[in-house]
Amino acid sequence: MPNYIPKRVFFEQEALEYPAGKYLYKHFKNLGKSEIKLLKSHNRVTEIPGKTPQECYVEGKNTLVVGVRKTLDFEKCKPSAHYQLPLVTGCIGKCEYCYLNTRLGKKPYVRIYVNIDEILDKAEQYIKQRLPETTLFEASATSDPIPVEPYTGALSKTIKFFANQDKGRLRFVTKFTDVDSLLDIPHNEHTTIRFSLNTQKIIKKYEHNTPNLIQRIKTSKKVIEAHYPIGYLIAPVITEKEWRRDYESLLQKLSEFLGDAKTKEIHFEIISHRFTKAAKRIILDVFPKTQLPMDENKRKFKYGQFGYGKYVYSKEELDEIKNFFHTKIQKYFPNYNIEYII
Ligand code: SF4
Repeated sequence: MPNYIPKRVFFEQEALEYPAGKYLYKHFKNLGKSEIKLLKSHNRVTEIPGKTPQECYVEGKNTLVVGVRKTLDFEKCKPSAHYQLPLVTGCIGKCEYCYLNTRLGKKPYVRIYVNIDEILDKAEQYIKQRLPETTLFEASATSDPIPVEPYTGALSKTIKFFANQDKGRLRFVTKFTDVDSLLDIPHNEHTTIRFSLNTQKIIKKYEHNTPNLIQRIKTSKKVIEAHYPIGYLIAPVITEKEWRRDYESLLQKLSEFLGDAKTKEIHFEIISHRFTKAAKRIILDVFPKTQLPMDENKRKFKYGQFGYGKYVYSKEELDEIKNFFHTKIQKYFPNYNIEYII
């Protein structure tokens, strides 16, 4: 049973021509918990209510759009993968700092696609183009795909597809727990599942509508036991009062819960908190009481790879973060592999 039940579900007319679209339409009708409407196009979703920025945001998150993915040109996804794999757009989480805040408009609804077979055909073409090299796809560049997985089965299908690709690999990151349908399927270790963690304090303060730390850790253990390659993304690292103690406690808890499971090679990615001017504006609109540290005077300005600048921690602070995580990860994880700390 999915944890996420949308308040309203909009179906693009064309989606109902696909078996997945028909199935979902029937499913939501029978469930009787969501308002259901038909749309002409998934890019013209005009009937989500909301007047204030906060209402628009909340109602957007409460809306699921079932559509057909028309654009089958995949975007590049440097540096973490070669291409984005568009299985879902949007996320039910309400993290104040989320990178999607600047990308999905004022009503950030969640879009799922019923033409997964066509998307995977296209992935196969991209893999062939890069032969003999291996091509890596990222399935969470514009979403957290896990909360809607019980509805779509998209990841499950995609993981099985990649299990048979000699030169194709998949990765995605999640904060959510709906992974049970992925545990017993053949994956051939071609899919890496990463879990996004933070201290319980930060989760509570900024990562609304997401599972707590222990739930995420327990879910990740199930994934390790299902023999998937595993990774942890600790982000955003925020150096609030007692941050060293809190992040050490996170690593310690993770190490204790994983027990023997941590003898596998575990990959870590660590990203310190950063923000752009545009993101700050939107965050303050939607979360006027946010306590996110966004004082430009306390940060260093850095030009990003896409031309806009961001505010990052100073070099001294970042060096401290790097030293801290190098030392502590080494202490708790014998087979660690730190991919990067930025
Ligand atoms: Fe954004 Fe991830 Fe939070 Fe979803 S879980 S709102 S994608 S940061």
